[in-house]
Amino acid sequence: MIMQTLNELDQDWMRCFQKPIIISGPCSAESQEQLLEISKNLDKSYVKIFRAGIWKPRTKPGGFEGVGEIGLKWLQKVKEETGMMIATEVANTDHVKASLAYDIDILWIGARSTVNPFTVQEIAESLKNTEKIILVKNPINPDFDLWVGALERLVAQGIKKIGVIHRGFSYYKKSQYRNHPHWDIALNFKNFYGNIPIICDPSHICGEREGIATVAKQALNLEYDGLMIESHCNPDKAWSDSKQQITPQQLVKILKKIEFSKEQDSKKTQIEILRDKIDELDENVLSLLASRFLLSREIGMLKKKHNVDIFQPNRWKQIMEKLECFGKNVELSSDFIKVFLEIIHQESIQIQNRVMLDR
Ligand code: PEP
Ligand code: MN
Repeated sequence: MIMQTLNELDQDWMRCFQKPIIISGPCSAESQEQLLEISKNLDKSYVKIFRAGIWKPRTKPGGFEGVGEIGLKWLQKVKEETGMMIATEVANTDHVKASLAYDIDILWIGARSTVNPFTVQEIAESLKNTEKIILVKNPINPDFDLWVGALERLVAQGIKKIGVIHRGFSYYKKSQYRNHPHWDIALNFKNFYGNIPIICDPSHICGEREGIATVAKQALNLEYDGLMIESHCNPDKAWSDSKQQITPQQLVKILKKIEFSKEQDSKKTQIEILRDKIDELDENVLSLLASRFLLSREIGMLKKKHNVDIFQPNRWKQIMEKLECFGKNVELSSDFIKVFLEIIHQESIQIQNRVMLDR
């Protein structure tokens, strides 16, 4: 019932913006001068929304936890002087009340809040029937339902203008990313809820400047509605997330480059464009398979340690049944699923055989 509502919501707020929507500004507000300097240097032909964190959720205590309410006044000043819309993160009722009192245009729920249904419920209730745009970052953990659930909680409170931000997910292994993109989860979101705007946050996915351009481009190739990219006039001196912030000038360079390659793309035939997309998806499929085989290897080591047989027919039967059912839902034939899983299974068994033989 609620799912229906979510699918049917017309997000016409989106149409007030040229696509892609670009949101930029510092990770944290540090002073009024800092916000004004950054906002004045951002190229307004691209960046329509200015972001700054006022209350900062930090992993460990003792760090800079944001300037608090005074930062809202500084954001207002940015709106007055530049005409940009302003956005900040809220994590509880007090934050919501203060942000509404200062007429902040866009409020977002951070990744650490989306994980907690009590927090989301509290925020949703304090925003009841608001006309503001509310964006929900994906939860820290790769949990699709938790992300969707947060939106359902907002919609249930009569909130109509919503969107999501894909900022990547925690990953227990070492990875080139600070937060693993798991494009599959975000694309799944796009498939189910194509009506809800999705914005990519390459800054928090990458965790460093390197890679921001690539992730941003990939998101736009995948037809995301916009980007949120952190910027700062002196990134190395930023009070939070200093490694991943870029200067307003670097941001323009990235956006121009993406635009240029889009222009090149527009000269491509429809077949070439679709082929590029297929190439990208194939790479994603292979990197997902590689992650799966790493897990098979880890399980192989445990089987060796506990002297368990490699082939576990019951487990295999369960996997087949579950995925045949999943496959049907996404319109894959059961013959294909069987052949595909069989190949994966054989490779996993070979990997585990090699682990068993390792001394
Ligand atoms: C941020 O946008 O600065 C932030 C804290 O993001 P996230 O919730 O994605 O960690
Ligand atoms: Mn940040």
